[in-house]
Amino acid sequence: MNIGDFYLTKTNKLNVIYHIPSGNICKVSDEIFDCLKRNDYDNQEVIKLLSALNELPVIKTGKNKPKSELLNNVLFISSENCNLRCKYCFVEHGRYNGKTDTKNMDLETYIDSIRYALHRYPKGIKSIGFFGGEPLLNFDTIKEFVLWYEESVLNKNKDLYRTKFGIVTNGTLANADVINFLIEHDIAVTLSIDGPKDVNDSARVMVNGESSYDIIFNNLDLWSNDKLTLGIEATINNYHIKNYRPGIVKDWIDNLRKLNFNDLAMFTVVTDNEDTKITDAITLGKIYNEVVDYWFDKILNEDDLKCVDTFVLGMTNNILLKRYVSSCSVYNSLTVDPCGKTFPCQMFCQSGSYCMGSIQDQTDTKRDKIIEELMLTDRNDVKDCKDCWVRNFCTTWCKGNSQNSGGNLTSTVRIQCLQTKLIAERIIYNLALLLSDPEKMARFTRNFNRLKDSLGEKQDASIY
Ligand code: SF4
Ligand code: SF4
Repeated sequence: MNIGDFYLTKTNKLNVIYHIPSGNICKVSDEIFDCLKRNDYDNQEVIKLLSALNELPVIKTGKNKPKSELLNNVLFISSENCNLRCKYCFVEHGRYNGKTDTKNMDLETYIDSIRYALHRYPKGIKSIGFFGGEPLLNFDTIKEFVLWYEESVLNKNKDLYRTKFGIVTNGTLANADVINFLIEHDIAVTLSIDGPKDVNDSARVMVNGESSYDIIFNNLDLWSNDKLTLGIEATINNYHIKNYRPGIVKDWIDNLRKLNFNDLAMFTVVTDNEDTKITDAITLGKIYNEVVDYWFDKILNEDDLKCVDTFVLGMTNNILLKRYVSSCSVYNSLTVDPCGKTFPCQMFCQSGSYCMGSIQDQTDTKRDKIIEELMLTDRNDVKDCKDCWVRNFCTTWCKGNSQNSGGNLTSTVRIQCLQTKLIAERIIYNLALLLSDPEKMARFTRNFNRLKDSLGEKQDASIY
């Protein structure tokens, strides 16, 4: 419940308040909790609490960082084809806007895209990603390109940023040769799989009728290779809701952990598809309560934990560090399709007005205009965010998703906002529980700070 400067939540007799301006979390008595709920600020205990909270520094909001000479990301639509027909697929199974003349990217387009990017970003490219459709349908060209890039770009230009590669795949075409190449060239994998077999195979449907879950789990020895950097992306959809019963989320995550992933993200589906869209917010809340509790328990009790849920860990980190995140840096990235058309990111590929031009363009007039617009638009401009209680640590707002779902950059996507608030509430509840137990708090803080290396986070957090 969001009341003025406070977010209030009560579970298992614990009264928790989150003070939005300072980002402080406190456990309070029934008396204070009830007064705040009634907007009664005359009570002596409330007056004492408010004066203590008002002494604390407020979280500073900020604007987007300026453009850089180092490009964050080049994402290639390596193939506009796919061997799956996921019911919630947002790119029409790789066909982006239902194209009929789908293509795979050729080597020349990969190379020309890099020349185009390095001409505009002379310090180099932080990461290069392969996306689809299903990029492994065009793996031979990806291999040729990676070898060319290492030899002709990185080896010949020692001052350039040492680019990291990544690929997003449904995993059904992987074999030993593919995995060995990915390991050898340090290409991080994001594998899309939704969890239990019945749920996964209801939404992630193979064109040939086979079970996509079985193909991946029959190849466990490939995926669980310690040398592979593996992230899992599970899309929580209506089949999870239908299959939910109390305690089941632990089984879902434990089963996925057989894949030996480094990180996991369990995002709620954004779709109009009737079979998969979420209609039951209460069950979604129960699922995310279990997700957050699972990871807090693991962080607390597994001293050698090697995998994390990056969304839960990242949000916990932002809450603890009281860190405001303005928006993603889409204005500092580039997506290229097989025809050489350029977009700010893959979320804009289906929006004609955000096509920035092509890699053959000599002038950047349209690109400059789009980049400027994206850079100047930040979360401070979003009406829904202004009054939202998670506004000081939310990382959910995505300009591409807003454009796709709401038709403009400054809208929000209701289901994503709901997901964020459900997760935030449970994180705050878990942090408040730790406040009651100094020994647990110390153990959690130690393990949490060790795990944060996976986020590239240097600053240690402490629970106050
Ligand atoms: S694997 Fe990816 S691109 Fe293919 S249908 Fe599924 S969501 Fe779409
Ligand atoms: S949850 Fe939604 S409304 Fe709230 S800050 Fe995030 S994007 Fe904005």
